[in-house]
Amino acid sequence: MKPEENVPLAKHTTLGTGGPARWLGRPESLPELEEMLRWAREHETQVYVVGLGSNMLAADDGVDGLVLRLAGDLATVGVDGDTIRAGGGAANAVCLHRAREAGLGGFEFACAIPGTTGGGVWMNAGAYGGEFAQVLEKARVVTADGAGWLTPTELGLTYRHSSLRHGQVVAEVELRLRPRAPQEIKEEVAALNARRKEAQPTNKRTFGSVFKNPDHELTAGRMLEACGLRGFRIGGAQISPKHANFIENADGATTADALALMAEARRRAREQYGADLRHEVEFLGAIDLPE
Ligand SMILES: Cc1cc2nc3c(=O)[nH]c(=O)nc-3n(C[C@H](O)[C@H](O)[C@H](O)COP(=O)(O)OP(=O)(O)OC[C@H]3O[C@@H](n4cnc5c(N)ncnc54)[C@H](O)[C@@H]3O)c2cc1C
Repeated sequence: MKPEENVPLAKHTTLGTGGPARWLGRPESLPELEEMLRWAREHETQVYVVGLGSNMLAADDGVDGLVLRLAGDLATVGVDGDTIRAGGGAANAVCLHRAREAGLGGFEFACAIPGTTGGGVWMNAGAYGGEFAQVLEKARVVTADGAGWLTPTELGLTYRHSSLRHGQVVAEVELRLRPRAPQEIKEEVAALNARRKEAQPTNKRTFGSVFKNPDHELTAGRMLEACGLRGFRIGGAQISPKHANFIENADGATTADALALMAEARRRAREQYGADLRHEVEFLGAIDLPE
């Protein structure tokens, strides 16, 4: 199965920026995924994965490699006792929905994280005191050399970080949950969503938090707000007027616009607070964020 050539990544990122992927493959099963990984090795091509692109900045001049988007069997969700078994391309929202139907709690924290389980593992995504590391039993990680199941410890999950590297594909996950009444889950999700709506931009094109929280009494958002950056705009990208640790695609933004905002934010945080802000968003392609 041959991947498609020159597919614009702007369609595959929530910010809506990014040039073409040299190759884009949509494997629908484990054998298809393994075949594509072998194809990439034969063509000496680097492999990347895009989930929902909700934590991703892709280079404007594109990505020279094979970008995979998991589909079919690799994006399904099933329930087995107190375990959710999901493909790496399955949306968190679908997992949460299935968990609620089955009366399984513990994944409510993911209600406002608009990604896939694979992206969640890669990022150890989390919110409101919960994170993937707490519910993940194991993840099936596939490379051109084969597949194996890894535990959270083996995946090196820490704050918004895993030790996974490009070329390692999270094809499947098992989330171990616990019995909870569907109504309670529904109420908690509604309360978390209301909190989210009050504090963050929810109907804009963004990629979630730009920077990790620094080792400082101020969060990244509060620090950038104090630096006067709310609403600050470069080209088509602007720092959210609602929450300064979000960048919005206000009007035809490019990745370069977003990067220029990030560089300015880093400069001001360093100047005013001596803080070294590290980006949480993942880069795809040749992207250079000035120090
Ligand atoms: C409005 C909004 C709110 C958000 N709120 C939160 C929040 O509260 N907490 C939080 O942690 N994040 C948040 N995010 C960021 C983002 O949703 C999470 O990081 C999410 O886990 C990313 O998942 P994704 O599938 O979109 O991954 P992508 O953005 O597509 O990719 C992120 C990284 O994971 C890798 N990856 C993706 N899938 C796989 C796979 N199957 N195998 C191997 N690697 C893979 C990619 O290569 C990339 O390096 C938010 C984003 C938005 C837009």
